[in-house]
Amino acid sequence: MLSINFKTTTVTILTDPVRQFHFDYSGRLIGHFNHGDHYRIGLDGTILFKSSNQEAEDCFLPIADVQYWWKEWEREWEDWRKAPDFAWTKSTFDTEPLDVSEFLGRIFLFLKNISFNHQQFLKIWGRIPILPPEFYQSVIVNFTVGCSYDDCTFCTFYKDRPFQIRSIETLNDHLLEISDFFGDGLSARRDIFIGEANALAAPNRRFIFLMEELQDWISEMKALNPRFRVNRIGSFLDGFTGHLKDADEWKMIRQSGLSDIAIGIESGSEDLLKGVGKPYDPEIIIQMVNRIKEAGFRLQLIFLLGLGGKKYRDSHFEASVSMISRFNLSPEDRVQLSLFNPAISTGNYPFKDDLLTSDDLDQEYVRWKSALNELEKGISVRKYPTQFFIV
Ligand code: SF4
Repeated sequence: MLSINFKTTTVTILTDPVRQFHFDYSGRLIGHFNHGDHYRIGLDGTILFKSSNQEAEDCFLPIADVQYWWKEWEREWEDWRKAPDFAWTKSTFDTEPLDVSEFLGRIFLFLKNISFNHQQFLKIWGRIPILPPEFYQSVIVNFTVGCSYDDCTFCTFYKDRPFQIRSIETLNDHLLEISDFFGDGLSARRDIFIGEANALAAPNRRFIFLMEELQDWISEMKALNPRFRVNRIGSFLDGFTGHLKDADEWKMIRQSGLSDIAIGIESGSEDLLKGVGKPYDPEIIIQMVNRIKEAGFRLQLIFLLGLGGKKYRDSHFEASVSMISRFNLSPEDRVQLSLFNPAISTGNYPFKDDLLTSDDLDQEYVRWKSALNELEKGISVRKYPTQFFIV
């Protein structure tokens, strides 16, 4: 017996209790759970595999395996389509449930257009190098492209694209492409992330105009798709431009609907920041973070473990913990600890021959986490494996 479960935002098909397929309402496969193993499917067709074995690391399936899985699933879905009505049990929590046959038709339409769909993804968003963990599988709306600074020696994320701020017209074209891309599947996404690297580098007036356009689009989408909701709207911020905005400007941005800000602080050590090409005064960052917090944002503060190698191992830790101790945070805020990855550093990164080993990085994570917990700020401290995400 096959079961189909129309939930408010997604549809689940169970072939047995421990084997499930999760779809959005456009018929796009977004996840598959198979006897403890979990496959998360990205909009670009990539598959992130999470094993039931706690010891095993998450990994992206290689292309050959991805092709194999899509073929297997296609064969299985063909069998579902042939299954008679009485083979299905249907439950629904949705106010406007679909017919089983209509929904299976959507799955097949999606499958028929799968390579076009993946090309559309690349056309609209291109390669997405990084997102804050709270915004994986959100709707990404790019107010800007690239990074306005792009000179940190440990980061090559945006080297392939020049920085641009979208005009109202190009944002509206972008939003139109996004609505066409998702269709009814928009309801499976509950958050909006405003990209790319530091969209908040846009001048305040421009950012707020773009937010107004975004809010109009959200209202339009809600009218067309009653299942669509938006819980959070977030963006990245860098320390170079963030401190230029005063308290009133941050309040205006908060009132425009932005709720979450992720800040790549990396370290509290001024000397180290200067050494890796991200020079700013930690005192200014402390004032900036507290000003943003005062305006009512939820924060994710990102620090990079292993930055500066062995030479800076202790001073990076001490200066960063001391900096975090001076932030006025609340329990909804997070400190995200990412791990230095030499593969994404530039040729100018000065500590290439002084890297921490992966065991060192594990020890650092434990050390930072326990020191931050001792601050008793009630914030959560998480590991941020920047490479393992799907959109
Ligand atoms: S770390 Fe951030 S500010 Fe620095 S180059 Fe990368 S995206 Fe830009």
